[in-house]
Amino acid sequence: MAGGRAFDVLRKKSPTPVLLLGDEAVSPYNRPDLSKRYLLDQIDEDRLMFHARDHYGGENAAFRAATRAVGLDPDGHRIQLDNGAKLRYRQLLIATGGSPRRLAVPGAELPGIHYLRTLPDARALRDGLRKQPRVAVVGAGLVGLEIAAAARDLGLDVCVIDVCEMPFPLLGESLGREIQAVHETRGVAFHLGTTVAEFAGDGRLERVVLADGTVIVANLAVVGIGIAPTSQWLSPVLGAELANGTIPTDSFGRTSLPDVYAAGDVCRWIHPHYGELHTEHEAVAQNQGMRVAGNMAGEPKPFDMVPYAWSDQYENRLRTVGLASIESADTSRTFSGPGRAMATVYLRGDELVGAATLDWPAFMARITRALRARPGLGFDDRLLAELTGG
Ligand SMILES: Cc1cc2nc3c(=O)[nH]c(=O)nc-3n(C[C@H](O)[C@H](O)[C@H](O)COP(=O)(O)OP(=O)(O)OC[C@H]3O[C@@H](n4cnc5c(N)ncnc54)[C@H](O)[C@@H]3O)c2cc1C
Repeated sequence: MAGGRAFDVLRKKSPTPVLLLGDEAVSPYNRPDLSKRYLLDQIDEDRLMFHARDHYGGENAAFRAATRAVGLDPDGHRIQLDNGAKLRYRQLLIATGGSPRRLAVPGAELPGIHYLRTLPDARALRDGLRKQPRVAVVGAGLVGLEIAAAARDLGLDVCVIDVCEMPFPLLGESLGREIQAVHETRGVAFHLGTTVAEFAGDGRLERVVLADGTVIVANLAVVGIGIAPTSQWLSPVLGAELANGTIPTDSFGRTSLPDVYAAGDVCRWIHPHYGELHTEHEAVAQNQGMRVAGNMAGEPKPFDMVPYAWSDQYENRLRTVGLASIESADTSRTFSGPGRAMATVYLRGDELVGAATLDWPAFMARITRALRARPGLGFDDRLLAELTGG
């Protein structure tokens, strides 16, 4: 998503030719829909694409699909491709995203076990869900719970397993428990505080055995336990700089290597206000891709977007802005709004550093505006009244 958006900026602004390389078979597309509308047959593959394929041709611009970069020679300004070719670059943007973390337990290779990152993954999952299976979702994070919601919308029997005691523990207990309740009301069963010990079955998945001894009958499992940044191919040149696999950059997207930039899920960058950040969210990836491309094209500005993320589960909308995590904050406070609406704000001392809302769009819109306009904003009763519309 970062690379696709960067390409659009560079083809307009770069004085030199732009080449987009991707190891998938298709041109850039909207990944978030893969766990939502796509599983419910509510969006065609054509409409997932950022642009029609012919958008990527033309003067000074080209796209090569199914082509993987496997090595980087920073001194020679060359990248090595999986077909043996070497390409010279003047400037390079690395936006290789991440790939799902695998669950290494007995039976992990049984047919019926899915991961979801790419369009082919989504096709396989959608086809599997059409066979009316009993579904086990491993991981109560954003992708796992969206798949659980889609599977319930399809009328399937669904359970969710997570090693944590609640979904989204970093958002704090109130929101975590409320999101769990949203799913329980829809008939999802949770197995929390435990993990998968084994996938079992005769030639394909039939049962999921948990560490606490529970045996779940399931013939389709989806594992959504996070991603690992796709940066292994850079370890010979970046080595120890790759903390947790992420590529460090400054606020402009520059890495430590000459003329090499990075953006999206694969990087961690210095935010001018919040300091070092790593996010795995589409709005950040797309905006960062565009901003870093602008920097490469000679219009330098730091990437200072206040991070924003979203998740749709059934008709419920979870939104976060800023540093929405109890780990980034000294304290958090939760407020209730109309109906199911709920908001948690995260504070460092008196400073408001982030917020998360469930079904409270007005609160989210106001707090996002406030954080963008006034970084370092103090949180007090007047601001609270403004945010709650009181
Ligand atoms: C199912 C799903 C649902 C999501 N839903 C949401 C959501 O609701 N809200 C939200 O904020 N975020 C969501 N996200 C996260 C969001 O999609 C990511 O943050 C975003 O895609 C990151 O963009 P990126 O460009 O960094 O990486 P990607 O979009 O992963 O793009 C990286 C590309 O690089 C390719 N690549 C990797 N290595 C190489 C190589 N060596 N050579 C060539 N190409 C390579 C990859 O195949 C991929 O095509 C979701 C993600 C998934 C998978």
